[in-house]
Amino acid sequence: MRTVTLPQGNQMPVFGLGTWRMGEHPDQFDHEVDLIRAAMDLGITLLDTAEMYGEGGAEEVIGAAIDGRRDELFLVSKFFPHNASRNGVIEACERSLRRMKTDYIDLYMLHWPGSVPLEQTFEALQELRDGGKIRDYGVSNFNLTDLEKVPAEYQSQLGCNQVFYNLAHREVEWEVSDWCARHGVPLMAYSPLDQASKLLHDPVLGSIAERHAITPAQVALAWLLQRPDTVVIPKTTQVQRLRENLAALEVQLDSDDLALLDGSFPAPSSPTRLGMR
Ligand code: NAP
Repeated sequence: MRTVTLPQGNQMPVFGLGTWRMGEHPDQFDHEVDLIRAAMDLGITLLDTAEMYGEGGAEEVIGAAIDGRRDELFLVSKFFPHNASRNGVIEACERSLRRMKTDYIDLYMLHWPGSVPLEQTFEALQELRDGGKIRDYGVSNFNLTDLEKVPAEYQSQLGCNQVFYNLAHREVEWEVSDWCARHGVPLMAYSPLDQASKLLHDPVLGSIAERHAITPAQVALAWLLQRPDTVVIPKTTQVQRLRENLAALEVQLDSDDLALLDGSFPAPSSPTRLGMR
């Protein structure tokens, strides 16, 4: 699996599995555990979760699924902005570690900007990193103003900005992606399939998919994977779609494809607010 290098020299896979809406229904628990195990068997090692998902339930699903296989994995989790105080981050991290039955998180991030001064949040993240509880830290849903509020000494330490990013939502390309590139901060594209909305039924996407004998979802993922330092974390509940989505790593879109996609899904050309789901 191709990787991007984080500030600590750690390697982050460019493809992972999202877990939003897992851990919400006890009758789905076993299926979700099996799905994560199937993902690992296919070589998907990055799992993205958050204390918010199922109020800890998604982390518990991960904890059950990864038993004995922790070393193969790159675990990403996020804490609520209302837990972003110095003690709040540390306590939230301890709870996430317990639920996932692990002693470290590879990348731990603030889920969206809140009202706690960022100095406090980053001091706590640094303490967690120094103590080996997390390997890298990052942010999510940070627009340019938010990024500029990150204390200077931490800006180039960010392991990622996890953002709403897909062909139909390129708002991040208005200023945010440039800032991240300048500071060496990878983008992690969430909802890369636009939550299976009308994007996957777009005729241009369909024609490119047909030409390459692939699926529209693979075109959408391949487009993101061809962007520099960009990671994708599509969510699926179906094993065959894990295979389909993972195979997007082998797709090479050519300049004609990219021009067609730019025509149908243009990058923003005037100030545009970062989207959020
Ligand atoms: P997504 O990955 O864009 O789309 C998921 C939807 O696409 C599901 O309904 C899934 O249905 C369907 N799907 C998956 N593969 C498909 C395929 N090959 N063909 C057709 N449909 C397909 O949306 P997401 O779950 O919002 O985003 C992914 C992950 O990003 C989340 O799970 C979460 O980990 C993270 N996230 C983070 C934030 C944040 O604020 N930081 C916000 C949103 C999401 P099936 O299950 O039926 O396959």
